[in-house]
Amino acid sequence: MTKWVLQCEECGNKWILDVSFDLEKIGRIFHYCSNCRKNTFHKVLGKME
Ligand SMILES: [Zn+2]
Repeated sequence: MTKWVLQCEECGNKWILDVSFDLEKIGRIFHYCSNCRKNTFHKVLGKME
C-alpha cells in the first residue's frame, strides 16, 4: 500500500489515501471529499514516504 496525498480541487482540503495502485500515472482522481460531502476531482500531490 502507498499513502498518497490528495487535494480536493473544490475546497483545497488535503488528506491521505491508502491504495495499492500508482496514482502518479493518473494524476487526478474523482473521489469523495469529506469536507465538500460529495464526489469531487482531487489532485494527486505526491507520495507520503
Ligand atoms: Zn472538498
